[in-house]
Amino acid sequence: MNLPQSFIESLAGVKGFDKKSFEAVHQTGEQVTSIRLHPQKYAIVQPDLLNGKVPWNSNGYYLKERPSFTLDPLFHAGAYYVQEASSMFLEHALHSIIKGAGKGLKILDLCAAPGGKSTLLASLYPEALIVSNEVIKSRAAVLVENATKWGMPNMVVTNNDPEHFKDFTGFFDIIVVDAPCSGSGMFRKDPDAINEWSEQNVIHCSQRQERILANIVPCLKENGLLVYSTCSYSLAEDEKIADWLVSEMKLESRSIQIENHWNIIETISDQQNAYGYRFYPNLLKGEGFYLAVFQQTETVGQDRLRAVSLVQPSKSELEGLASFTADFSDAFYFKQNSAIRYFSESFVSDLQALSSRLYIKKAGVELGEFKGKSLIPSHEWAVSVLPKNGFSSIQLDKDTAIQFLKRGIFSVENADTGWNWVRFQGLVLGLVKVLPNRINNYYPSEWRILKD
Ligand code: SAM
Repeated sequence: MNLPQSFIESLAGVKGFDKKSFEAVHQTGEQVTSIRLHPQKYAIVQPDLLNGKVPWNSNGYYLKERPSFTLDPLFHAGAYYVQEASSMFLEHALHSIIKGAGKGLKILDLCAAPGGKSTLLASLYPEALIVSNEVIKSRAAVLVENATKWGMPNMVVTNNDPEHFKDFTGFFDIIVVDAPCSGSGMFRKDPDAINEWSEQNVIHCSQRQERILANIVPCLKENGLLVYSTCSYSLAEDEKIADWLVSEMKLESRSIQIENHWNIIETISDQQNAYGYRFYPNLLKGEGFYLAVFQQTETVGQDRLRAVSLVQPSKSELEGLASFTADFSDAFYFKQNSAIRYFSESFVSDLQALSSRLYIKKAGVELGEFKGKSLIPSHEWAVSVLPKNGFSSIQLDKDTAIQFLKRGIFSVENADTGWNWVRFQGLVLGLVKVLPNRINNYYPSEWRILKD
């Protein structure tokens, strides 16, 4: 693997950069695979697959080798998210400032697809509202799929340009900008990225990063936090942006306590002494990454936004729902077309405000729709962390679970007729309807496994 000469030269003098061992680690071809377990789904991962903990994340684990995730039913149950280890540092960075369940916090993940940081945030702060936004439509669809599998009801997925947030002045407590970047941090994992790298592209990316940040910083509340991160090693996309955030956006830099033995490099920017945290693959088990935290210390006014009213279910629908939802907490139900969705009561006015300006792809969890008096349950509910009442369950072994996930035909002995939750190792994969002579498979066809 030959790294561009101009790239190596551009890093001379950058704190933590050691040319020899940096180049050597890119030559080894070693691949690090890591997963972050879903703390609200309690999956049991076979201990012999694991290769130690990611030190800066309470649910992060390294794997001995990269298995076929596609053929693991637990992956489809949202029991874990395959996430690069360095980026899991977001948990430590935020937790060192805000502990607890995040009750009432409004968090925006602006550049969210495919969903690594958003799913981390949704589980880290289960009582916060997570607005997970992606500008590119096809990537927003992947984000919806991953958010659905993660199943946290506190997520709203939007598909908007950062500019569309301009009316949300002072709205968010935390904004995460995991910015599109020149991608040098991924060279070891994705050697194709090397051919895309150029000094010109670094400049282009840094200008785009400033544009994105200029649009979104005004959306921070007074005392709100901005987390800025990239997977680039270039100063122009990291410390120089940190300088710009302090000098032009008037934010204050926040430092993060880190353990020495993690080998994360703390940097201090040239002009404004802003703290940043660099991850080098030759120093730790993870890919290249940069993260910095800032605080809005100035007074910010809040825009008053028009509230869009949400359609309420009918009285008979609410009565029909009651036996299924008896132990749902903080529940608010609204309708989208004919489907009924669960959303957190605490954030209803925020959802109404978001709906007035943004394209909402998914808010909360779809429970299902009524056909006459019968509830047709939804896949979103099945894979969510919301309680599962009202229907029987079928437990499948691994081969039959794969068959289910392929949307194939299978049979089970002694299943109750009617709707059933389909479970693998206790976790719900989806729904089937058992009829006297066959089983109808309701796994979403667009997400079915195609691989043999
Ligand atoms: N945060 C994600 C995660 O952890 O899974 C990864 C985000 S990736 C580094 C950057 C994202 O920014 C991409 O999904 C990309 O489509 C999006 N993006 C590209 N151009 C953008 C722009 N002009 N404004 C906002 N986001 C943009």
